[in-house]
Amino acid sequence: MNTARQPYPKTPDIGEADRFLATTHEVFNQPSALENYNLFEQDTALQEAVHREGASAALNDLKAFGALAGAADTIALGFLANNNKLVLHTHDRFGHRIDDVEFHPAYHELMRMAFENGLHSSPWTNPGKGAHVARAAKYYMHSQIEAAHCCPVTMTFAAIPSIHKQPELAKGWEQRILANSYDPRNIPDSQKASVTIGMAMTEKQGGSDVRANSTKAFAVGTEGPGQAYELVGHKWFVSAPMCDAFLVLAQARGGLSCFLMPRWRPDGSKNAWQIQQLKSKIGNVANASSEVELRGALAWMVGEEGRGVPTIIEMVAMTRFDCMIGSSAGMRQALAQATHHCRHRSVFGDRLIDQPLMQNVLADLALESEAAMAYTMRVARAMDNQHIEQERLLARLATPVGKYWICKRTPNHAYEAMECIGGSGVMEDCIMPRLFRESPVNAIWEGSGNVQCLDTLRALQKEPETLDAFFKEAAEAKGADHRFDRFLAQLQNDFADTGDIQYRARNLVDRMALAMQGSLLIRHSDKAVADAFCASRLQDAGGMNYGNLPSGTDAAAIIKRATPVVG
Ligand SMILES: Cc1cc2nc3c(=O)[nH]c(=O)nc-3n(C[C@H](O)[C@H](O)[C@H](O)COP(=O)(O)OP(=O)(O)OC[C@H]3O[C@@H](n4cnc5c(N)ncnc54)[C@H](O)[C@@H]3O)c2cc1C
Repeated sequence: MNTARQPYPKTPDIGEADRFLATTHEVFNQPSALENYNLFEQDTALQEAVHREGASAALNDLKAFGALAGAADTIALGFLANNNKLVLHTHDRFGHRIDDVEFHPAYHELMRMAFENGLHSSPWTNPGKGAHVARAAKYYMHSQIEAAHCCPVTMTFAAIPSIHKQPELAKGWEQRILANSYDPRNIPDSQKASVTIGMAMTEKQGGSDVRANSTKAFAVGTEGPGQAYELVGHKWFVSAPMCDAFLVLAQARGGLSCFLMPRWRPDGSKNAWQIQQLKSKIGNVANASSEVELRGALAWMVGEEGRGVPTIIEMVAMTRFDCMIGSSAGMRQALAQATHHCRHRSVFGDRLIDQPLMQNVLADLALESEAAMAYTMRVARAMDNQHIEQERLLARLATPVGKYWICKRTPNHAYEAMECIGGSGVMEDCIMPRLFRESPVNAIWEGSGNVQCLDTLRALQKEPETLDAFFKEAAEAKGADHRFDRFLAQLQNDFADTGDIQYRARNLVDRMALAMQGSLLIRHSDKAVADAFCASRLQDAGGMNYGNLPSGTDAAAIIKRATPVVG
């Protein structure tokens, strides 16, 4: 008998054809990719927040940006920027020091998109009603595409208040920092119409405690603010080392001071700072983070000598706010992926999104996401209203509280959203592994969790009125929900006792964040969202994981509000 395989029999019956043409199965019950959708128009809570917090004028711009951010080609850039490893070139082939980092073109494309859309500049170039809110909404969408490259966007944005402390220095830089264009070339900044700014504070012996910095600043001539110095020492973490200049902390004779250090000297020679190596990170891989040595790098003092921390803290306050936007965005994208998947996937005969236990998980994830975004947008409005004392005080306290809470809530949220997708959620061709690996970063840099809690206490100690401002805002929701009223009263009461307050700081800050989020949702969100938030977060209902919303919650309504309708 001839057993040789006949791949193309002339007259096969149905069974034979299936066997020889290797038609193994039909692909079904798999969702389409979440792409070609409008990140703004498909986000009800975001649209409401933009109106509420004063940025209605930006509506058309945000709609257009939402479409761009959701386009398949834009989403693909995020994958490309992450899948291609960065390469550090310390020298050119002739042996000259170049300190160049090679990125995939997709990274530059994302940077171009961010800078051309003014994510680093708009509240400074067009201040006024809703400016920070509109920028935050745009950043929130942009960061959902790819979060890592947002680091230099944020630092460039955040540098402005610190550089302003030295007006004559700012004059030479400000216009180019605020230009809505992106120039990645490794050439002297004097040849560029737009520049990016980084920051270099952390050293090996101390990051949170920068007073331990050992990098020294030697005056070239006259000492003092605005004067030229040469910096000698090292920095243990310098992200986005291709920035055109950096705000650096170093010890001058009068103490720790802030300096502006360009990549290149004004005479066109390379400044004496050298990248030792790139960090190998769990996430945030599209962004280069490096270790650097300064070997007499030319820099100019910004702000008063010995007042380096108060000078650079202006920048840090802004970067902390962006951590809140970035982590809220990470949660929103994770939620969008989870709800989209469950809407298109059936298990045991029903769509996942209709199954009670999955509804409990998805609705819980949606609460967390909306609460984070609502809090962030409220702080954005406070930043727009810094001329109003109540708003200034609110922003001062709400920033460390929100940075701590929102960033810290993100990793578990990403993990749970990943699990909603099942096995495919763990695969690298899904965005979920990237969101998960990115999720711890915002909590750790720009002042880690405990440091935010301690900063909250510092604000209370220095300006006790900040607590009144915070509670005044939270109390706006009083009388609408007895669980909220009780929660707020207990929290206020607990501030009366300042014994071992450092030890208890996390507990207090957790509850401050929850009180503010509850207040915002009660006043402004859907009734189902507010009710579920109070039931699950403001009273002890037991259960630590997502999916613990009590019976009677209108989970379907919460999920519907949160689900992008695509495909
Ligand atoms: C990906 C990445 C990129 C970075 N990029 C930059 C950059 O561009 N520029 C830059 O300057 N830095 C950068 N950093 C550094 C970052 O800001 C620091 O890692 C961070 O500030 C913490 O400092 P540390 O690592 O020295 O930890 P430590 O200061 O040793 O802190 C360790 C832990 O102790 C806690 N802690 C500190 N003080 C107290 C206290 N008094 N009580 C209780 N707990 C406390 C902290 O919250 C933290 O959890 C980057 C970090 C990462 C991860």
